[in-house]
Amino acid sequence: MTVISRLRAPTSILLKRRLTASRNSHGLPLAASLSARWLSNDTAAASNEGARYSDVLIVGGGVVGCALARQLNQRLPSLSVHLVEARDAPTSKPASSNEIPHPRSYALSPQSLDILGLLSSEETTSDEMANQDVKLGWYDAMQIWEARNPATLRFHADDLPFDEAKLDRPKMLGAVVEDGPLVRALWEKLESHPQTTISTNTTVQDLQLSSNGQGVVTVETSDNEIHQTRLLVAADGAQSPIRQRLGVKQAQWDYGRQALTFTVELSQDDRIPRTAYQRFIHGQEAGRGPLALLPTHSPRHAIVVWSTTPEMVKKWKETDDNNALIDHLQNLLQTGPQRLPPLVESKPGQVPPLLSNVLFGVERLLETVQDAGAMLAATNSRSWMAPPKLSKIVSPKLSFPLACRNVGQYHHASNRVVLVGDAAHTVHPMAGQGLNLGLGAVESLVESIVESEAVGMDVTYGLDSFLRKRHAANSSVIMGIHALHEIFAVQDNVPLMHAKSFGMNVMQQVGPLRRRIVQAATQGVVF
Ligand SMILES: Cc1cc2nc3c(=O)[nH]c(=O)nc-3n(C[C@H](O)[C@H](O)[C@H](O)COP(=O)(O)OP(=O)(O)OC[C@H]3O[C@@H](n4cnc5c(N)ncnc54)[C@H](O)[C@@H]3O)c2cc1C
Repeated sequence: MTVISRLRAPTSILLKRRLTASRNSHGLPLAASLSARWLSNDTAAASNEGARYSDVLIVGGGVVGCALARQLNQRLPSLSVHLVEARDAPTSKPASSNEIPHPRSYALSPQSLDILGLLSSEETTSDEMANQDVKLGWYDAMQIWEARNPATLRFHADDLPFDEAKLDRPKMLGAVVEDGPLVRALWEKLESHPQTTISTNTTVQDLQLSSNGQGVVTVETSDNEIHQTRLLVAADGAQSPIRQRLGVKQAQWDYGRQALTFTVELSQDDRIPRTAYQRFIHGQEAGRGPLALLPTHSPRHAIVVWSTTPEMVKKWKETDDNNALIDHLQNLLQTGPQRLPPLVESKPGQVPPLLSNVLFGVERLLETVQDAGAMLAATNSRSWMAPPKLSKIVSPKLSFPLACRNVGQYHHASNRVVLVGDAAHTVHPMAGQGLNLGLGAVESLVESIVESEAVGMDVTYGLDSFLRKRHAANSSVIMGIHALHEIFAVQDNVPLMHAKSFGMNVMQQVGPLRRRIVQAATQGVVF
């Protein structure tokens, strides 16, 4: 831990309001409210005496906050970083911990794994975090389907372009990583860095910006410390007290859905291949919404992420009959794509023969175009494969509310406050992109600080251009995921179902298009 230099605080005080962390239904201190306690300028100025200084102050020690601190330590070792986290420091791995992966896990792209230092030529063996129990559930393929649709999307690592610079790396679509071991490994690295200090069980109480956007940000924390920093980064999660405190506007769509997630053991003789599965479920009774089965580092275990109605989540989360839940999911996952109903369902004589012939012709034409695409792309091996069978639930069942949110920009008008990770955006988990987007912004933020330092400028010098670009890129992914969610929600409109099926088949069969999508999902390439 570093001895922190002390600076005199600026006297310009704007307004101060008290932020209080509260706990959500899972007991996590993530939500915050403004208790509208206003401090007088004199009180505030007096409390700034003897403030602790850091070049970058990060609030929130989740994966995004820790990854940012770690990247800064690595790229700019002399930059001082302070991390404020509301919870305890992660505990070291309990001796009794077994091989069952925790359901709080993320499917991460190779680019994100790289940012986290989890990719190396020898896969996990020589990696800097390998000896700290960050185990990866690699996957080379993704299979996406709707049982009521004769279309399957199957993406494979072979779709990725040849990259000479990465020849020494495993070619894969991504890996599933558990949150706990990942945060613990990052945390341990931060603790041993001489320019990094950490406050745990601490929240931000007050925040003041200098009136002209110059100078420093002053932060009062719940441990009665006053901090000053050139850059305040809010990585404090979806309920971000700092975002709320600053009144940052955001676009928001509440899906009225929740995600239910847990770990399952596979049937005796089944192993999960290096494949991530996702089926879109239709029908109120089945529990409409995407159902994913993700590989883990243990070939005998997989993680279920089921995004569905709150009623369905409540029913299955509260049930004691986990066997019934397994049977239900088994049934859904083992049902492959089927033929669609005809464009017009009619009894003989109901539709004029001419119209009936035209519709028949349209259906055949769609099929022919799709078959021709299949022959051209020569991808016959990519037909639907049944996922492994499930045996039992072996973890707690967790649930999360789902919303799509996106702030208008990542840096606040003051230019000294930046929002990253879930503090800036959340997306539907169906594409497994939330953390990937947050880590992409971390990369841009670090690049901008590195460039600013290289030319001897203030850390905020390059923020605008770097973060604007990243915001535009992330926003298009967020909109894309939202649009996909809406498209897959279509279930009773037969012509639209035909169009969707056609679109999926075209995406699957037209090689260049499919490869572009795989590239976008794994390397953050934006169309
Ligand atoms: C069901 C589900 C599945 C998902 N699957 C994927 C996936 O496969 N791939 C993917 O990329 N993304 C996925 N996501 C998204 C991913 O979970 C989030 O994007 C990611 O966890 C965000 O990390 P974060 O560090 O920004 O926020 P968080 O993990 O929420 O961390 C915020 C931190 O800030 C701390 N904090 C909060 N308030 C304060 C305060 N006042 N003061 C100090 N500290 C504070 C908290 O204690 C916490 O440690 C999924 C999300 C869900 C709901």
